[in-house]
Amino acid sequence: MKVIIIGGVAGGASAAARLRRLDESAEIIMFERGKYISFANCGLPYHIGGFIPNETDLNIQTPQKFRNRLNVDVREQQLVKEIHREEKEVVVEKLETGEVYTESYDKLLIATGAYPFVPRIPGVDLPNVFTLRTIPDTIRIRKTVAESKPESCAVIGGGFVGLEMVENLSHAGLKVHLVDMANHVMPAMDYDMAVRVNKHLEEKGVDLHLGNGLAGIEQAGDKLVVKMQNGELTVDLVVLAIGVRPETELSAACGLELSPKKTVVVDEHMRTSDPDIYAVGDIVQTTNLVTGKPGHTPLAGPANRQGRIAADNICGIPSTYKGSLGTAISKAFDVSLGMTGLSEAAAKAAGFDYGKVYLWQKDHAAFYPNAHYFSTKVVYDKTNGRILGAQFVGYENIDKHTDVFSMAIRAGMTAKDLIDAELSYGPPYNTAKDVANMAGFLIENVMEGRLKQIEVTDFEKYVEENDPQIIDVRPVELFMMGYIPGSTSMQLAQLRAKMNKLDKSRPIVLVCEMGLNGYNAYRALVQNGFNCVNLSGGFNLYEALGYPVED
Ligand code: FAD
Repeated sequence: MKVIIIGGVAGGASAAARLRRLDESAEIIMFERGKYISFANCGLPYHIGGFIPNETDLNIQTPQKFRNRLNVDVREQQLVKEIHREEKEVVVEKLETGEVYTESYDKLLIATGAYPFVPRIPGVDLPNVFTLRTIPDTIRIRKTVAESKPESCAVIGGGFVGLEMVENLSHAGLKVHLVDMANHVMPAMDYDMAVRVNKHLEEKGVDLHLGNGLAGIEQAGDKLVVKMQNGELTVDLVVLAIGVRPETELSAACGLELSPKKTVVVDEHMRTSDPDIYAVGDIVQTTNLVTGKPGHTPLAGPANRQGRIAADNICGIPSTYKGSLGTAISKAFDVSLGMTGLSEAAAKAAGFDYGKVYLWQKDHAAFYPNAHYFSTKVVYDKTNGRILGAQFVGYENIDKHTDVFSMAIRAGMTAKDLIDAELSYGPPYNTAKDVANMAGFLIENVMEGRLKQIEVTDFEKYVEENDPQIIDVRPVELFMMGYIPGSTSMQLAQLRAKMNKLDKSRPIVLVCEMGLNGYNAYRALVQNGFNCVNLSGGFNLYEALGYPVED
């Protein structure tokens, strides 16, 4: 069997390695137009920032090692220009010499990845305007930073790569401006979670220009003028990180079926519309495991696993790729952002009858040194309690919580299943009730009517329509530092003694730090005949979302 692989990084190299392990006699040829194969794309921003000082550490494999260890015929710096499906041949150009030749295949695997999106606006091709995908891109940016000593830069786009570039360019000593059309960073997250990252970036000295799209770039002497829809900036260097597009021109030209989003349509065996051609990684359409609808998941984990699955199928093992959850994690200075499954916006767009809860708890036992609060949002299906998605922002263990929820969502778990989850605890690592347990408790309480919540976004309307008593049960010191206008302080410890001062004929909105003490107060009051609601996410979320506060 002769297998040709196009693309020698995440999906392609994984497929090649698995193929060799399964079939010692197969002839495997892997074409890569670049000089490097199997490199760590995900590490590129950290080389620019100096966290990974040696460029060689980015090369997980070299072509020579791949040849020696796996007997794969690696042909680097060779571009596959055409696929002739009828003849089962590819046309290849050796980029160093310009020589063009054909190579036949029995099975073909396409793993050509995705390229950074560059909008069609003036100035994107100016010197010192960069995108980041490859090791040569990384070297160019690093060299410019080292030699031209830029003082400032604008990163356009606050997604994964944009955020990593913000941190790394800042670490390299540049004043960083972040420009994004959305009103928050990390578009895969909801505003009410990402807003905490906005704040952290500002604390780290990053200037945010949000809700403000890029209109063009102009050269002005040595400087670049970044024209935004609203205002302009003068900087030394610009990085475009506006998202990626699947590199499917080769697949389209040979007539493979593409989706309306220009991703290659594959079945669960990663087979394209041509039974002898497989496709994996950033170019393929994936099924969203929560909605069952088609999507695109340009991430390293899916690409690697799909490469393995395609290799299995080429060798007669009918492995399947069921779909993706978009489980992802990113770092912005000291905080990590984790997400899996559907955001609230995605649940709404998919038409779910969803509910949401917020949690704010310590990342390990409060009595063990250096515990920090982290923020959690869980979206669930109100009709059956199934967990649809989760998002986290915090300092430690964000990867762990993201992954626990990813497994729970994949397994179709409900809030009740989360209550039963037995998760590891020791004071340096976690709290005895993991956030998954806590989310399960909270959702169950809401679903079974033991707790009535009101969303921060509905608060003003609720106040207007119901004229409630707003009772803040936080410690008085916190109340003094800031409170919701019109609220009265009645800290939880004194609530039972003072509740006879409350008016039973008027509803009560309970406010605490993040919802838990409000819940305690709620249970005490409703069992004494009061009509209450608890402010979901508490004062903490109310303040983070920028609602008016008095102090
Ligand atoms: P790639 O790994 O991009 O490989 C495609 C290869 O095909 C390229 O090397 C290209 O040169 C080659 N090629 C294309 N066309 C041809 C042709 N005609 N002939 C020959 N060769 C060709 N994902 C995460 O999950 N976590 C992260 O933290 C993360 N960070 C990232 C940071 C950066 C800066 C970048 C760029 C990506 C990051 N990703 C991350 C995404 C992840 O790297 C990709 O999802 C993954 O590499 C996709 O694998 P792939 O095999 O589909 O494509």
